[in-house]
Amino acid sequence: MSERSETPTHFIRQIIDRDLAEGKHGGRVVTRFPPEPNGYLHIGHAKSICLNFGVAEQYGGACNLRFDDTNPEKESDEYVNSIRNDVEWLGGRWDGQVRFASDYFDTIHECALALIRAGHAYVDSQSPEQIAANRGNFTTPGTDSPYRDRGVDENLALFADMRAGTLDEGQAVLRARIDMASPNMNLRDPVLYRIRRARHHHTGDTWCIYPMYDFTHPISDAIEGITHSLCTLEFEAHRPLYDWVLDTLTGLVDFPSRPRQYEFARLNLNYTLTSKRKLKQLVDEGHVSGWDDPRMPTISGLRRRGYTPASIWRFCDMVGVARADSVVDVAMLEAAIRDDLNQHAPRAMCVLRPLKLVIENWPAGQVEQLEAPMHPQNEAMGTRQIPMSGEVFIDREDFLEEANKKFKRLVLGDRVRLRYGYVVRATDVIRDAQGEIVEVRCTYDPDTLGKNPENDEGQGKLRGVIHWVSAAQGVPCEVRLYDRLFTSASPEREEDGVASCLNPASLTVLEGAMAEPSLAVAPVESRFQFEREGYFCVDRDSRPDRPVFNLTVGLRESF
Ligand code: ATP
Ligand code: MG
Repeated sequence: MSERSETPTHFIRQIIDRDLAEGKHGGRVVTRFPPEPNGYLHIGHAKSICLNFGVAEQYGGACNLRFDDTNPEKESDEYVNSIRNDVEWLGGRWDGQVRFASDYFDTIHECALALIRAGHAYVDSQSPEQIAANRGNFTTPGTDSPYRDRGVDENLALFADMRAGTLDEGQAVLRARIDMASPNMNLRDPVLYRIRRARHHHTGDTWCIYPMYDFTHPISDAIEGITHSLCTLEFEAHRPLYDWVLDTLTGLVDFPSRPRQYEFARLNLNYTLTSKRKLKQLVDEGHVSGWDDPRMPTISGLRRRGYTPASIWRFCDMVGVARADSVVDVAMLEAAIRDDLNQHAPRAMCVLRPLKLVIENWPAGQVEQLEAPMHPQNEAMGTRQIPMSGEVFIDREDFLEEANKKFKRLVLGDRVRLRYGYVVRATDVIRDAQGEIVEVRCTYDPDTLGKNPENDEGQGKLRGVIHWVSAAQGVPCEVRLYDRLFTSASPEREEDGVASCLNPASLTVLEGAMAEPSLAVAPVESRFQFEREGYFCVDRDSRPDRPVFNLTVGLRESF
């Protein structure tokens, strides 16, 4: 977490500074991250996590993890568990237990009763269609429900019926009695409770009425003593209702704090979906292998792809916290992980598309251990042993029979250095029946280990240095290359739906890659720079006899 100490300031921190200076909230800063468990978290949520947990940490306050679980049909324990894991992995340390809005259903129900008794809420028996029709629109005020002036006792009796399950879904709702003519649609007698005959993942069959988000949220915040309730801009127009709920309950119910809601811009990334609902569609329709498919912008997908928590925090810091919506270039996210891995990932060699190179003058049967640094700029990371023998694999793309001087790789008749090893000269090629080159022959110069033969008389300049893996000691592995999941920069705006702009080349599986032997024992999620290829991460599909690597990000920006 120390890497975050120089987190830039932003308007939320300025608000908190001002509140602290004015002695508000008794000098406390308590935030919360309130996901609905209706899907896996995505990179957009990471921004909210970094903000809420980050602010709490910076001010010596606390941040709660609270599940906003008021829609039983869409929510599940699978989502609860995944969200918890993801927050934990990102480094969010919540205060006390994990909390659930559904833990407060009793108190929220009492709040509803208090509002009814004080004349601030009524049971509406209009049909859902009538309620929608009578709400009006932006230009026309709403129409009062014929049930708006029901007496307190009748409201209490009907609400008890709702609670007892003697009414059906859609027969009645509890509404706040505010103002059907308000220019803010959210204040036109919003629904506070509705009947749902659904089993809830956390409360089971205890309830058949469920409070709405707009009613649940301020009460949950107040119960938990939240001081600053940070949410995205789409809730701006809901803030008057948030305040109405808490102000109207003042004097009726006692809470430890009077929280305030502040809105910040949500994170939008080009080429990326940041909506749980649409990501769920990709999973349900089988366009990806699951929520943690490495192409998904979910936290679990990014993790499987090879992203580190530090890189995600760094990215969120770079994006900043503003009040105006904008679209961030996904290249910024890629740059964040590239910088992190460039600094921290050990180096290794892996040949993605192997072509055999036979060294004709290598002493028969000899295996030599070459030493290579784990990281070129960080000696403290130590060294590794790389076996060298008379047959190695090089990448198909590193050899041409003929090429001009711009081709800095192996060419027939010319020389390159095998990285950390000797200089070789290609002498011949061997073809299969179809005429395809299946083997390159070469000779090596035993005098060139660690020496620069650049200026050897009459030999010309070395073309370059290529990576390689010894054929007998190398480990066959699978490498999964990823490209962007969408061809459209704004997939959510595509008229024909998100599935219409999927990139058919978003996944390329290389079955026959060869990795240096040290990679055979690399644990799942360990990350490497495959020299000259990119940054890779060990996938959870790996087996000891067959590692699987995911491309995290290329060595440099490619778009
Ligand atoms: P989605 O539309 O993907 O379902 P949501 O807002 O409905 O997102 P919640 O589970 O309600 O998802 O979100 C939890 C918190 O994360 C909320 O405070 C929400 O404002 C915040 N959040 C969600 N998406 C983003 C985003 N793209 N950028 C920043 N914060 C976000
Ligand atoms: Mg939501």
